[in-house]
Amino acid sequence: MEMLTAVYDTKPYDREQLLAAAPRETLQWQFWDFRLSTDTARTARGAQAVCVFVNDAVDRPCLQTLGELGVKLLALRCTGHNNVDLPAAAEAGITVTRVPAYSPYAVAEHAVALLMTLNRKIHRAFNRVREQNFSLSGLVGTDLHGKTAGIFGTGKIGRATAQILHGFGMRILAFDTFPASEWARQLGVEYVDARTLARESDVISLHIPLTPETRHIIRGETLELMKPGVFLINVSRGRLIDTTALIAALKADKLGGVALDVYEEEEGVFFEDLSGQVLHDDELARLLTFPKVLVTAHQAFLTREALGDIARTTVANLEALAAARPFVDGSVLTAGPAAR
Ligand code: NAD
Repeated sequence: MEMLTAVYDTKPYDREQLLAAAPRETLQWQFWDFRLSTDTARTARGAQAVCVFVNDAVDRPCLQTLGELGVKLLALRCTGHNNVDLPAAAEAGITVTRVPAYSPYAVAEHAVALLMTLNRKIHRAFNRVREQNFSLSGLVGTDLHGKTAGIFGTGKIGRATAQILHGFGMRILAFDTFPASEWARQLGVEYVDARTLARESDVISLHIPLTPETRHIIRGETLELMKPGVFLINVSRGRLIDTTALIAALKADKLGGVALDVYEEEEGVFFEDLSGQVLHDDELARLLTFPKVLVTAHQAFLTREALGDIARTTVANLEALAAARPFVDGSVLTAGPAAR
């Protein structure tokens, strides 16, 4: 079957990796640089599959339009799927797949890079030295060795992060609704409840998915529990943290540092070059003023290895649709007729 895939929110690196995984003769591509939403869904006309990323808004009206256009597969080129209305996809007869796993090291290593940068104030030192300011005042960090790291969510990325921090000589506490007991025993990780993790950790790193249950899991009362001077790292999803409460805690100078690769309202801002423009999001603007806050624009996945894994799984699922073969193991989130 000749098959067209409409790919949304694409950047040059996405196109390069997808084309490398599937030459144009195998699959036909329509690359769009804008995001998929109810307003743009009609651009999928003629496509049997659409491919989206983390900030495409695939809600019910959008899925209804895709269903009417005859789209059979929605292939997410990411792990998280909070931006897709899965029941609506099932009703529209659209199979939804994701990339169930790609290099967890990409994301874990970025989390640790952010922590190291914040703790040792590399971002500030870099700027100083370029201005020939070789003073060390204000750059004092802390040894991570012997400190306690709290890993919130011990799936693939949380475990990879824990392993790196364990290598630094940190004590590792963890919380997960489904503890990985054997892994914990081997590494000497202690599972505790969420409040104990919040209270006892010097570094807290979030690695749980965004669900209605986990939205604002870090809010005023959680921040209150945390040790003064704690480092909070979020490379998972922005809405896990109540930004208003976070800003209040930062203004009260309760936190040692905050590293965010994701942000509650990142859609339309992250992944875009807005330099020279007015930033309309006052909370993001405020966050960027704190020297203790380090923000990257959802780049934790951005390694050659992770991009290659993502492209290969996505292409394997598109080829499975074209050839009416089973989809990649563990990738189907909603099985429409194409998956049966
Ligand atoms: P995973 O499914 O392997 O692990 C998630 C873990 O969270 C599981 O062990 C699960 O039991 C646990 N969990 C779920 N709900 C929980 C709750 N309410 N309380 C405690 N634990 C809970 O996922 P992963 O591959 O490790 O990815 C984790 C998250 O990282 C993804 O959901 C995604 O949002 C985010 N992510 C971000 C980037 C990035 O570039 N910044 C890249 C990939 C993934």
